[in-house]
Amino acid sequence: MVDIASRIIDIPDYPEPGVVFKDITPLFADPEALRATVDALADHFRALGVTKVIGPEARGFMVGVPVALELGAGFVPARKPGKLPRKTISMSYELEYGTDTLEIHADALTPDDRVVIIDDLIATGGTLAAVGKLVEETGAALLGYGCILELAFLSPRKVLETKDHEVFSLVT
Ligand code: IMP
Repeated sequence: MVDIASRIIDIPDYPEPGVVFKDITPLFADPEALRATVDALADHFRALGVTKVIGPEARGFMVGVPVALELGAGFVPARKPGKLPRKTISMSYELEYGTDTLEIHADALTPDDRVVIIDDLIATGGTLAAVGKLVEETGAALLGYGCILELAFLSPRKVLETKDHEVFSLVT
């Protein structure tokens, strides 16, 4: 059994003093840990009939695409404004200082889609909640959220978890 948690490194005072950044690049560099991570996330959602995985820019792409492949689902990128070439729908969300916005192509999902949102890390839950609102705007079914690492002390489940939307993390 691969120890996923041991391959995530704490970087104190990055990107600014007082912040401890969780560096997942060692996990991605280790073939066994990468395989175990993708399998564990995919296995959790496998029985749900997922048709689309959404991942937010940029580490959500790294995790979301292999999970989508494992599930036999498609992948939809949620991107920063101005990056997607066709008509988009967008959602803004609060950061500690200021706001941010994510967009998906307006035709990326249909009401028939069954969607899981995947990212590397959930902190406050603000990023994934915004993506969840985008999914709901399209009429697609949002099944839940998955991540490698959840910072539980920031209580993201208060923002994300409902009876219809589960939160699944490999490391808490
Ligand atoms: P939230 O919106 O507060 O939940 O922040 C989660 C988003 O910020 C995710 O897209 C993460 O990729 C990114 N993020 C926040 N903190 C870290 C970290 O320590 N390591 C890697 N990504 C982080």
